[in-house]
Amino acid sequence: MAEERKTLKLPAGYPFAGQVLEEMLSQEAISKRVKELAAEISSRYEGKIPIIIGVLNGSFLFMADLVRNLTIDFEVDFIKISSYGSSTTSSGTVRLLKDISADITGRDVIVVEDIVDTGLSLSFLKHRLENAGPESVAFVTCLYKPEIARHDFPIDFIAFSIENRYVVGYGLDLDQKLRGLPSIYAFKEGEPDNG
Ligand code: 5GP
Repeated sequence: MAEERKTLKLPAGYPFAGQVLEEMLSQEAISKRVKELAAEISSRYEGKIPIIIGVLNGSFLFMADLVRNLTIDFEVDFIKISSYGSSTTSSGTVRLLKDISADITGRDVIVVEDIVDTGLSLSFLKHRLENAGPESVAFVTCLYKPEIARHDFPIDFIAFSIENRYVVGYGLDLDQKLRGLPSIYAFKEGEPDNG
């Protein structure tokens, strides 16, 4: 018999209260994949000390787990951008809310994203960081939506490709909430049901 998926009913006071989300990626699956990615990154950057830039807010848990599993040394910095506001669809414009502090000139940079959805944020970040003259820029994302992502350059490391459903947990929010869920949950199909 197929194992039943974990579900989560959104409580009163939350957007889409009463709707049921189902677990898409378990804590175990995430942890296993993060270790694999960390091994790949460690081997690619052997002998180097990259600057790892986390894209706030969504990447904080993924980044923490990823760096804990690296076998190379590294520095960290953060950048904060916004493309979603408080809704669950992209606003179509990206705003820089907090820039990096580190000087990345001549450095190997690894950008850590929570999710690549339209790819708009990714393109914005690539442009911003390449302007600062780094030696290299690579992108790592926990989640990738291949059906809708549009970008004309490769993403170096992808933990999971997923279908086009709005996901929460493991750093990803629903109106700034639910980021602390240890696994990743999805609305049952496509966009959350407003009706
Ligand atoms: P993009 O610019 O690729 O369309 O969107 C990137 C940002 O939108 C992500 O870093 C994330 O903050 C937010 N986002 C996109 N898709 C989802 C989703 O399914 N769930 C959540 N919680 N945030 C998302």
